[in-house]
Amino acid sequence: MKKHNFSAGPSILPQEVLQKASEAILNFNDENLSLIEISHRSPAFVAVMEKASNLVLELLNLENKGYSALFLQGGASLEFLMTPYNLMKEGGKAAYLDTGAWSSKAIKEAKLFGDVAIVASSKDKNYNYIPKGFEIPADADYFHCTSNNTIYGTQMKSFPKSNSLLVCDMSSDIFSRSLDFSQFDLIYAGAQKNMGPAGATLVVVKDEVLGKTGRKIPSMLDYQIHISKDSMFNTPPVFAVYVSMLTLQWLKDSGGVAGIEKINNAKAALLYDEIDSNPLFKGVAEKEDRSNMNATFVLTDETLKDKFDALCKAAGLSGINGHRSVGGYRASMYNALPLESVQALVNVMKELNK
Ligand code: PMP
Repeated sequence: MKKHNFSAGPSILPQEVLQKASEAILNFNDENLSLIEISHRSPAFVAVMEKASNLVLELLNLENKGYSALFLQGGASLEFLMTPYNLMKEGGKAAYLDTGAWSSKAIKEAKLFGDVAIVASSKDKNYNYIPKGFEIPADADYFHCTSNNTIYGTQMKSFPKSNSLLVCDMSSDIFSRSLDFSQFDLIYAGAQKNMGPAGATLVVVKDEVLGKTGRKIPSMLDYQIHISKDSMFNTPPVFAVYVSMLTLQWLKDSGGVAGIEKINNAKAALLYDEIDSNPLFKGVAEKEDRSNMNATFVLTDETLKDKFDALCKAAGLSGINGHRSVGGYRASMYNALPLESVQALVNVMKELNK
């Protein structure tokens, strides 16, 4: 029987997607060739890329609104520097919200390009909350934030309005909840949580914000070049794009972002209710900032660790160890994780309290 997969990323994908992906490895589209041994310029693969990009815009409700969806490589980590390269003016300034290790890494790269204002940070409490009430300097070219902090289990519930462009690292909660995605000028996300396997990075960008920095941008790092080549400036990660396309189609067939959001809310409510009512557990993140994707919690009595771990193992629960910088446990509940898996974890938590 398949384990209950709470891995933080790479992470669970729908079983039917894995099935179709494995079939395409052997025989893609009944062409008697593998998906990974045909040209990315073949009509069959070009159609995959087109469909994947269109599904992204459709699911985010950004069709015909002047946005492009790109499938690139280098992970979200490369976007930490592509963002300033493409959006920070020569001699310009950017504003960043520091909500964790990934934000800090983004800040480090941006500092290579110009002036960076850190508008607020939750580092003082090991990033267990989302700072609020900060001001974005009027002269910032863009404001950058991380919508979901995978390691600490915090999630932004709203996004500030300002005169600056709004840039968001949505690596760990893209496609998980309804938002007005048109408030963002640039969204990026590594594929390996809610979209597909590692190897592709999604970038969704408003076309009109590009080409205004005065910088010379190397071709591979220039969003406009990737847009003009339909994500085929160089050989794209064909397998990762194909599996992402299958996952996006699965999401559309499951009721889209609004449909999955209801299930995600139910999963999060089930687990957080147990964390709050079971005296043996305590949540790590501030309640109002809790993530619906990654729930972080600790045992109130550390001597129960071996027993809890053994119960988890016996119940087939996988991937719930916390990140080393937080400790305790982290249950990642991405889109493809069924409610039954969360129920299995909750049953084990109740069992420990018997
Ligand atoms: N941002 C966030 C929020 C993440 O969770 C991660 C990875 N888990 C990254 C950025 C880095 O992504 P990548 O490994 O694709 O570079």
